[in-house]
Amino acid sequence: MTDTRTLRERAAALQPRTELYIDGAFVPAADGRTFETRDPGTGRVIAEIARGGQADIDRAVVAARRAFDSGAWSDATPRERRAVLLALADLIEANGEELALLESLDGGKLYSQTSTEDIPGTAAIFRWYAEALDKVYGEVAPTGGDDLAIVTREPLGVVGAVIPWNYPLEMASWKLAPALAAGNSVVLKPAEETPLTALRLAELATEAGLPQGVLNVVTGYGVEAGQALGRHPDVDSIAFTGSTGVGRMFLEYAGQSNMKQVWLECGGKSANLIFDDVADLDTAIDFAAQGIFSLSGQVCSANSRLLVQRSVYDRVVEGVVARAKALRVGDQFDEQAEMGPLVSATQLGRVSKYVETGRTEATLAAGGTRPDALATELAEGSFLQPTVFTGVDPEATIAVEEIFGPVLAIIPFDTEEEAIALANASEYGLAASVWTDSLRRARRVSRRLQAGTVSVNTVDALDVTVPFGGVRQSGFGRDLSLHALDKFTSLKTTWFAS
Ligand code: NAD
Repeated sequence: MTDTRTLRERAAALQPRTELYIDGAFVPAADGRTFETRDPGTGRVIAEIARGGQADIDRAVVAARRAFDSGAWSDATPRERRAVLLALADLIEANGEELALLESLDGGKLYSQTSTEDIPGTAAIFRWYAEALDKVYGEVAPTGGDDLAIVTREPLGVVGAVIPWNYPLEMASWKLAPALAAGNSVVLKPAEETPLTALRLAELATEAGLPQGVLNVVTGYGVEAGQALGRHPDVDSIAFTGSTGVGRMFLEYAGQSNMKQVWLECGGKSANLIFDDVADLDTAIDFAAQGIFSLSGQVCSANSRLLVQRSVYDRVVEGVVARAKALRVGDQFDEQAEMGPLVSATQLGRVSKYVETGRTEATLAAGGTRPDALATELAEGSFLQPTVFTGVDPEATIAVEEIFGPVLAIIPFDTEEEAIALANASEYGLAASVWTDSLRRARRVSRRLQAGTVSVNTVDALDVTVPFGGVRQSGFGRDLSLHALDKFTSLKTTWFAS
């Protein structure tokens, strides 16, 4: 029978898991406290979620350590681990509609994206690491003589994963898939804005055959659960994705506790460079708009600085402004909407302050306010129109700080040298894009851009087969690809004397 309910009605009918997931079971926080998670489209409370604290992190780490020491997962053969992770990928797909509804409800992401990108993308990550893990070989060192030295990759033990709200399931999978593939136990702390899908994912992992205690999820606030994990003396490594300010704190937590490894993927202020030799400027303009307005600009690698060569500046500005004005902003469950709400009222407030600052620093060419003509039930939603500032001074606040919203700063340049210098004049170095029809220029400029990923004639190039991460204060960890295994394993030398 076809389901005639609307997507919103289907989402409202779900019964999200709301308790901590520790040692294979849902449990309330030790002190019984909870916090609200809200739908950013309507502003309404979805559920009360367990508010984990120090005692809960302690319980989760004890369970994770016990599971690790038992060898049930850490000593399982690569083939056995592969089977469980493949089963998990299948379960993610089988429960895809529920997960997509939860992801959209909790974080305001368009259902048209969560259902076609986030959920299949998450399953694909687990599948990729499941397939990779029994194909990674160790080394035999060329020591000479009859001595034999082997180098093996060993799991670390207990990994703490702390993630943001913009891609809740995908960010979880970027940490969990390689960490689990390598044989570690994990305590995952999702962002307080978006706890729902992580809890369901943990339950599915148990259903797929992951032994109890190998994956634990402690929901709660950063300053409580997140800090307790960062300072925990029995956590071997932290894999963090989030803001640069909080990333810096994790380095301090490690120094003040047990010198655990800390791997950081932090913020960005990515530059998108359009040169005047581009014949197909329309495509460059389309991508420039997509690169900042996709997911309401709440993307770490968002192309928030658009650098345009002066001879094509007016044409590009006109095109980007037209696209910004034409974008349809609406309910995350409206399949015609092209941009949904921001993740929360707090985030809308933060971004709106930047817009106010921008008005004093540059020319507001599009957006800047809440869209009118939204349905009444969205009256309390966190919506903002796609916003474009032109003629921005490279030293203006809106050109320097990460806004993490649908706000674009367009800056003109004259020469290639100037473009490179402007792009690199940032404390961040996560990603950059270059548009040019000259192969020589593409190579020359991309080599000199200080960024973890440079996309040429596209934006935000990303795939599980290539590492993703930054330089400078965008962090130093690398997610995705086989390189991600570096942060979830230690190299061990075993020397057999002759
Ligand atoms: P955030 O730094 O506020 O929070 C990230 C996580 O850290 C959350 O789980 C939060 O609860 C926790 N946290 C917050 N304060 C803490 C504290 N004092 N101690 C311990 N833990 C704490 O970031 P956010 O607002 O959730 O996400 C947006 C940021 O994430 C942006 O800066 C964005 O660029 C970045 N990001 C980076 C990448 C990447 O791969 N480089 C990907 C996505 C998002």
